Amino acid sequence: MGRRAPNEHQARLMKFITVTVILATVAAFSSLSFAFSQDRVQRIACIENQHAMCAAVYDYQADNAGVNPSRLRLAKHYFTGRPDDFGACPADHVPYTYDRETGIVSCPNPAHRPH
Ligand SMILES: [Zn+2]
Repeated sequence: MGRRAPNEHQARLMKFITVTVILATVAAFSSLSFAFSQDRVQRIACIENQHAMCAAVYDYQADNAGVNPSRLRLAKHYFTGRPDDFGACPADHVPYTYDRETGIVSCPNPAHRPH
C-alpha cells in the first residue's frame, strides 16, 4: 500500500460526491412524498369527519320534526366520530362552519372540501 496516484484520489472523491448527491436527492423526494401523504391522510380524515357531522345533524333533524339544530353543538349527542373531533377539523382544529338552513357542515380549509 503506497501512496495513491492523484487521479485515483480524484476518482474516489468524485464517486463519494456522486453517491452523496444521489442519497440527498432520494432523501429529498422521500420527505416530499411523506409530506404529500400526510396531507392526503389529513384531508381524508377531515372529509370523513364532515360526513359524520352532517349525519349527526340529519339524525337530530329526524328526531326533531325535521328541524335542523339551531346550533351545531345540539347535534353532539348524535355524533358517532371521535368525540375530540366534534365541530372542528381533525387536522387544523379550526371550527367547522355550519349552515343552519341546509344542515351542511364544512371545513373552512378549501383543501378539505369533498369534490
Ligand atoms: Zn379540515
